[in-house]
Amino acid sequence: MGLAMVNQKLAVLGEFLVKWGGTMLVTFVLISTYYSCVHVIAENMYDNPTHIYWLTLVAKLIILEIAVNLACFVYYARYNSVTYWHRKSCVADLRVYAEDNEAQPEVEYACAQPTVERHLSWEPANESGSKFCFTCNKEAPQRSHHCPLCKMCVLRKDHHCFITGACVGLGNQRYFMVFLFWCAIGLTIAMPHLFFYMNTEVAYWYPFGFVYYIGPIAVVRWILGYVPFSQACFSTLFSFAGASLITAGGFFGMQVYYTSQGYTMYEWHNLTVRATFLGDGENMGERLRLVFGKHWALNFLIPLPWNLPVLTPAISDSLFRVRSKVL
Ligand SMILES: [Zn+2]
Ligand SMILES: [Zn+2]
Repeated sequence: MGLAMVNQKLAVLGEFLVKWGGTMLVTFVLISTYYSCVHVIAENMYDNPTHIYWLTLVAKLIILEIAVNLACFVYYARYNSVTYWHRKSCVADLRVYAEDNEAQPEVEYACAQPTVERHLSWEPANESGSKFCFTCNKEAPQRSHHCPLCKMCVLRKDHHCFITGACVGLGNQRYFMVFLFWCAIGLTIAMPHLFFYMNTEVAYWYPFGFVYYIGPIAVVRWILGYVPFSQACFSTLFSFAGASLITAGGFFGMQVYYTSQGYTMYEWHNLTVRATFLGDGENMGERLRLVFGKHWALNFLIPLPWNLPVLTPAISDSLFRVRSKVL
C-alpha cells in the first residue's frame, strides 16, 4: 500500500471522525451516565423502590429528548443552506407570515420596503459591495458564511459545532438549543448521584480524596496499579459529566442571550457587525419565532419541524441582503 493510499484512507477516517466523532462521544457519555446512575448508584442511594422507579422514568424521558433533538439537529442541518431559504422565502414563508399576522395581508409582504434605519450599512465584502462564494460559485447573502465541513453556504450561521458534527444555522438552531437544555437538566440530576457514589464508594472529598475525582489522574493511578479499573471509570465519568454540565449549561445560556438580542454567536462577537446592525426582530416574540417558529415554547417538549421559522419583512430583508450599498 503506497503512501498516497494511506494518506487517502486517513483523510476518509478524519472526515468521518469530524462528522460523527462528537456524536459518538455524546452517545457514549449518555449511556454510561444513565447506566451508572440508574443501575448502579440508585440501588446504593435509595432504599425505597418508588424513588428508583421515578428516577428511571425521568432519566429515560430526558435521554429521549436529547436523542430526538440531536437526531433532528443533524438531519435539519441540510436546511441551513442559502438555496433552500431562497426558495422557501419565495413561496412558503409568505404563507407562514400571512397566517401568523392576519392583520398584514400577503401583498403587503410582497412589496414591503426595507427598514432603512435599522440596517443601514453592512460591511462590504468586496468593491461591488456584494459577497461572492468562490466554493459555491455564486453570490451569497451578507449574512451567510460558507462552511467547508458542511460544504454549503449557511444562512444565519451561528457556528460549526464539532460535538454534534454540523453547523448551527437558521434551519436547525432550535434543536441545538433544546438539545443543550435537556443535556443540562439531565446532568444536573446526574451529578449529585455521581458525587454521592464517589464520596461513599471511591474516596472521601477531604482531605486529599479529590484526586480520585479527576479523570486523568484516576486513569494514571489505575495504570500504576493503585486503584481498580472500575474506580478509574467512575472518576473519568464524574469528570466528563461535570465538564459537560458546565459546557451545556453555559452554551445554552449564551444561545438564549444571543437569540434574545436578535444576533447569532458570530454576529454578536463581531463588533463591526454589531455596530452597524441592530439585530433581528422588533421584539422578543419575533426573535423567538425566528428561531423556533410559532408556539416556540412547545419545542422544548416535542420538536415541531413543520413550524418553520417566521420571517417578518424586516428580518427577511436583512437575511437575504446581498449588497451593502443597495440602500
Ligand atoms: Zn458557499
Ligand atoms: Zn458547518
